[in-house]
Amino acid sequence: MKDRCTAILLAAGAGRRMRGVKSDVAKQYMPILDKPVIWYALQTFEESRIIDDVILVVGRYEVDYARENVVEKYGFRKVDRIIEGGKERYLSVRKALRLIEEDDLTHSNRDGYIFIHDGARPFVTEKMLEAAYQGAVEIGASCAAVPVKDTIKVMGKWANKVKKTLARRNLYAAQTPQVFFTPIIIEAYKTLDEKQEELAEKGIVVTDDAMVVEKVLGRPVKLVEGSDENIKITTPIDLEVARIIAEKRQEQSNQSDESDESNTP
Ligand code: C5P
Repeated sequence: MKDRCTAILLAAGAGRRMRGVKSDVAKQYMPILDKPVIWYALQTFEESRIIDDVILVVGRYEVDYARENVVEKYGFRKVDRIIEGGKERYLSVRKALRLIEEDDLTHSNRDGYIFIHDGARPFVTEKMLEAAYQGAVEIGASCAAVPVKDTIKVMGKWANKVKKTLARRNLYAAQTPQVFFTPIIIEAYKTLDEKQEELAEKGIVVTDDAMVVEKVLGRPVKLVEGSDENIKITTPIDLEVARIIAEKRQEQSNQSDESDESNTP
């Protein structure tokens, strides 16, 4: 039997870097073609053979909006919990993890896997979910990633001068999904609470979940294949790129529907 797999979809960000786009709704509800940004990942989870249930984490006062305008409107049956997130990304994750810790038997995921995914990344695929799941089954934690294309420079403290240039060969840009054996990610976030001051003193800012497992527990995380299309919608140009990717995918799915029909006797 497959282990229970719960997805946490994070959509509680303020979208501060989306300046210049006129919109009545937050970034995660802006349309790509005719669907809100978070529709895409939710649809992939809904159709997934791996994901069993979804916790949707939204901004303050957005629970009703998200329920009515996304979950109920499009009939996402796997989303059985919608909660308000926290001020920082890691606080949003922690809130969802606390819910899982307190789970009763109907939801129980104490020995399963948790898939943490940015709602701002619409183009996650089943293939990516599968690769990340396999990685987590192997060593307990995995992270989708792509090789960096640019040369990365570290700036020194003074006058914008380069301190060093990193060897690109070993550099990967971390994406989501990031997948964890449930007890590992729960322990990592609990320990994070205890080590918060120590990390702050060292100037370490938590920007993803794999990092919590690496830094706080010192446990390995397996990198699995992400995709250049698995973009995070952050600035206005990303919405335009997202539209192009969504159009391409729609065309591909229309073509495969047509070939299915022509194969039907
Ligand atoms: O801010 P960043 O680009 O790292 O956000 C990545 C994802 O985390 C986004 O989908 C965003 O909505 C989510 N997030 C969140 N709670 C926050 C900040 C970000 O759920 N407080």
